[in-house]
Amino acid sequence: MKFKYTDYHVHTKWSSDIQENGPVFDDYIKIAEAEEINICFLEHYELYSIERDKSNPFYNDKIDDYLEEFDDLKGTYKFILSGLELEYYRDREIELLEFMDDYEKEIDFIGGTLHEWIYHYPITSRAKLLQLLEKVQMRQLIDDYFEISRMMIESKIFKNICHIDTIYRYINEHDIKPLEDCDISDERVLNLGRLCIKNKINIEYNLSGLRFPINRPFPSKEIAKKLKKERARFFVGSDSHSVENFQENISKVKNAYKFLGITY
Ligand SMILES: [Zn+2]
Ligand SMILES: [Zn+2]
Repeated sequence: MKFKYTDYHVHTKWSSDIQENGPVFDDYIKIAEAEEINICFLEHYELYSIERDKSNPFYNDKIDDYLEEFDDLKGTYKFILSGLELEYYRDREIELLEFMDDYEKEIDFIGGTLHEWIYHYPITSRAKLLQLLEKVQMRQLIDDYFEISRMMIESKIFKNICHIDTIYRYINEHDIKPLEDCDISDERVLNLGRLCIKNKINIEYNLSGLRFPINRPFPSKEIAKKLKKERARFFVGSDSHSVENFQENISKVKNAYKFLGITY
């Protein structure tokens, strides 16, 4: 890579949660070049939605178009990486493994991720989460998040895992308050991190939480520090969904690398 630091997590309109008129590769590239930072386009890739939803950017094998569009730029710009934020489904591990087999060599960086284990109810949408909380007890939801995350890590499908405690994007003291019977201990997040260490999986230090009332990365600085001492390997992502997000996070990304003592 051309520059010292990399933002491993930016989304363009190739991601299903971004509008048709959303940012494209070039919009980020211009800024990244000026600010001297490498970027990895970590687009959402959800098997379930890609198969069913014609409006999903990757519907109908469009992944080949994505890679083609990317390859055209890669020749010119030596500071960009292709990537996917690949949704984990506990009942589709074989297909995910096959997907990795097919694409791991063609795509620079793939991160495993968990947003939606009950279809149509991603816990990273505040509105959907509220609907979900009418059906499932909060305690159960948090327990399920940690249990399925454990399965995702232990499946060994992924070499990189995104935002390990993103269940707290909205469930926290500053937003939707956790109920008394919920186990929200740091120990749970630390244990997921330790499982990553044990399985030689890189952990994301995801800065998106700084844009929400929780106002901290996923995982928190304190947890990242503890995991670092236990020899965790991190990568840093802004999880930008707009060029404004990206621009605002560049110095934070660079500082995060310094804080985490990452020199690659
Ligand atoms: Zn995500
Ligand atoms: Zn993301």
